[in-house]
Amino acid sequence: MNGKILIVEDEEKLARFIEMELQYEDYEVEKAGDGRTGLALAQSDAFDLVLLDIMLPELNGIEVLRRLRKTSAIPVILLTARDTVMDKVTGLDGGADDYITKPFAIEELLARIRAALRKKPASDSGQADSGVLRIGRLALDPARHAVTMDDTPLELTKREFDLLQMLMENKGIVLSRDRLLEQVWGYDYQGETNAVDVYIRFLRSKIDDAFEVKYIYTVRGVGYTLRDGESEHE
Ligand code: CA
Repeated sequence: MNGKILIVEDEEKLARFIEMELQYEDYEVEKAGDGRTGLALAQSDAFDLVLLDIMLPELNGIEVLRRLRKTSAIPVILLTARDTVMDKVTGLDGGADDYITKPFAIEELLARIRAALRKKPASDSGQADSGVLRIGRLALDPARHAVTMDDTPLELTKREFDLLQMLMENKGIVLSRDRLLEQVWGYDYQGETNAVDVYIRFLRSKIDDAFEVKYIYTVRGVGYTLRDGESEHE
């Protein structure tokens, strides 16, 4: 079993569809059709992740999230029908780990779920290493805002750090330039659209080139991904 997921969604057909796909991927699933029931279940501590619709009867998703965050750090992915900046900002400010806009491809949702579950604080795997992201010899500690290669500290700017963290949290998943811009630079970013490429170059020179490794991959026409190339022999 990959984990236990709560779907809070009042569109029964969509909820059933997601449920079937998740069960096929070996997740255990429970569903709630309104915000109040969803919140009670989410607070029960029985789940690894919550898929939370925003437009819900009784309590809307943003309100469910706000109340849930008072007691729980469980990963939450918002499902939103309205692709508005307002929803995303409110949702992410409210403590959502991610959001996905309906209609979505199920593969995209599954990738987001895997990423959110990986990010989950490892409560049962020891305190010492909690929250530290690793790829190959590279380690990023969000709490200490520190990046090290083996034991050598790397000097990164805030932007480089944020970009690297985003890539490490989504290790193995290809992230588009748009998504990186949105997540690292912000929704209202008005600057150069090649900012991502420029900062990827900075990271490559400080990591791949400086230490003769290959972690940062370009997927032509799509975006960027982080992989441990040394163990893959490509
Ligand atoms: Ca709805």
